[in-house]
Amino acid sequence: MSRPIQAHIDLSALKNNLRVVRRHASAKVMAVVKANAYGHGLLRIAGALREAEGLALLDVREAITLRDVGFRQTILLLEGFFSKDDVPLFAEYELTAVIHSQQQLAWLDAYPRKNGLSVWLKINTGMNRLGFMPADVPAVMERLKSHRAVREVTLMTHFAQADEAVGVAKQLELFNHIAASYHAPRSLANSAALLRYPNTHSDWVRPGIMLYGSSPFAEVSAQELGLQAVMNLSSELISVRELRSGDCVGYAASFCADNTMRIGTLACGYADGYPRHAPTGTPILVNGKRTRTLGRVSMDMLAVDLSDIPDAQVGSRVVLWGAGMPVDEVARAAGTISYELLCALAPRVSVSD
Ligand SMILES: *Cc1c(COP(=O)(O)O)cnc(C)c1O
Repeated sequence: MSRPIQAHIDLSALKNNLRVVRRHASAKVMAVVKANAYGHGLLRIAGALREAEGLALLDVREAITLRDVGFRQTILLLEGFFSKDDVPLFAEYELTAVIHSQQQLAWLDAYPRKNGLSVWLKINTGMNRLGFMPADVPAVMERLKSHRAVREVTLMTHFAQADEAVGVAKQLELFNHIAASYHAPRSLANSAALLRYPNTHSDWVRPGIMLYGSSPFAEVSAQELGLQAVMNLSSELISVRELRSGDCVGYAASFCADNTMRIGTLACGYADGYPRHAPTGTPILVNGKRTRTLGRVSMDMLAVDLSDIPDAQVGSRVVLWGAGMPVDEVARAAGTISYELLCALAPRVSVSD
């Protein structure tokens, strides 16, 4: 038998989460499937999102694969062209490019053919990562609108703090001010803005994390938002033992028992994508009961407290995250965010739906 760790992808949860998106926003949905659909498997997730109006990712090869398996919706490349050689591929496969830099405009200018390319012009309204400065937008718009290869321009921006108390007001105002001069479709909202700021919905919303059943907000749970976990990472206990007072567990002996206690070792470690920085006390389910991790996370193993789970034995099921054990809680305990944990699922973990 193979190692018992596995990730089960719950596609009915994904569809539930898409319904939550639709309940909040009547805009078209550009489902974000970058990073292998946040670690869930691109083709599996794309297959279940056929009713989304678009899919957004980063890799032109992946986009072509989606076309090859029959996706007819808009496919948006969030970082656009990486070289001049990408441009013909966008035309051939009818891919939509984010244009965020003068370099990309130059590659587009060098493209000799007359083709109906659709582009999304990215405006930097404060994230300061990608995008044209507001003052440059009029000239760039002129160039794109008169470009022989460009059929349609959508205006987009991305929020830096939609999930935080300060919100989106400043960036939204700047974007709206610029966009008011054009009759162009618009796209602004990530999951946090979609859930919290209806005035950002516009023509296209771009949900990522909420589709996978995780909350974009530190202080609101996925459950409160009506979201269901899509990835269920589970394993089994492969060893159970008793510690006496003073016995310690694992590397660095960072957890030591102060009484006799039962512990278990399960088949999951940082080489599976579990965060090595998860400290003693990180929540975890054994036999459906909530307990805590103990000591350092090893490459392939992890220890758990079985004090209150007397029926636990070798072979007992352990849920690292998923239904009943929100990945957001595990992430918080490990000092990170769910995005990082989901994306880091290791290739050696078998994934099924
Ligand atoms: C990743 C990403 C999103 C989705 O963000 P979530 O917080 O996962 O909803 C939306 N827009 C852009 C440009 C992105 O890079």
